[in-house]
Amino acid sequence: MKLGALEAGGTKMVCVLGDENGNIFERVSFPTREPAETMPDMVRFFREKGVEALGVGSFGPLCLNPHAPNYGSITTTPKPGWRDYPLAQTFRQALGVPVEIDTDVNAAALGEALLGAGQGVDTLVYYTVGTGVGGGLYSQGKLHHGLVHPEMGHMILRPHRSDPTPEGFCPYHKGCLEGMAAGPALEKRWGKPARELPPEHIAWKIEAEYLAQMCVNTIVMLSPGRIVLGGGVMHQQQLFPMVRRRTLELLGGYVAAPEIVDHMDSYIVAPGLGDNAGAVGSLMLARRALQ
Ligand code: ADP
Ligand code: ZN
Repeated sequence: MKLGALEAGGTKMVCVLGDENGNIFERVSFPTREPAETMPDMVRFFREKGVEALGVGSFGPLCLNPHAPNYGSITTTPKPGWRDYPLAQTFRQALGVPVEIDTDVNAAALGEALLGAGQGVDTLVYYTVGTGVGGGLYSQGKLHHGLVHPEMGHMILRPHRSDPTPEGFCPYHKGCLEGMAAGPALEKRWGKPARELPPEHIAWKIEAEYLAQMCVNTIVMLSPGRIVLGGGVMHQQQLFPMVRRRTLELLGGYVAAPEIVDHMDSYIVAPGLGDNAGAVGSLMLARRALQ
């Protein structure tokens, strides 16, 4: 079965041809310009490949209420041209195939739950820590939306006592998770790109503190069976043991599940699909669109 997947991001649009088992055959990437320029390139790709359905994992905010007239639209983004843009509807009309859309992080959560690190658990939270921070929740076969959809990247955190920039950098909340721990926050705090900070730099101790607070908040709010941490910043492998250790400390023994207390190494994990979580998850959205 030929399925299409789109990872719609603020800087690039990644179009994938794959199948219902999550195999990826082809991938092209277009820079994100205004819709009138970007959409025709993507439509041409999926049309030429003859996809039978399309799954879209997109930046947001999105309207995901199937009863709303603007279901499948991007809503209040500041990105030029994309505000109130009917992304799913445009693809549905242009391609004439079923289209399923969700947030980029929910798509990645679905990919990880079905084919990645989440196999064997029925509730999973996926975080990306990259240009921004976002979280998706897969629970018992469903992706959670709620009223709009979660914005886990904007949970408010407590500053680390050694953080030289304890105020944080989010334009809306200053010291939220994204404002403290996204790649650009690291760069502003330390004056150089995150990937240039050596593994023993105190930057990573402070980063691990924020990611541990994120994990603790996630555990007490949602009680997931596993937490998957992806995105560019998590390429810093040394973060994983630091985040696990600090999460246990911050929990203070209050949540007594053996999966957490005795098996932390398999509780907070890297994506089983690596950087393909979003693409594979979007293929799974396409599969769902056909059902
Ligand atoms: P996006 O979030 O835009 O989809 P990424 O997940 O790759 O893309 O995140 C990009 C961010 O991650 C940048 O802020 C960059 O500084 C940071 N980043 C990318 N690779 C690394 C790395 N190896 N170490 C630390 N930070 C990284
Ligand atoms: Zn914020």
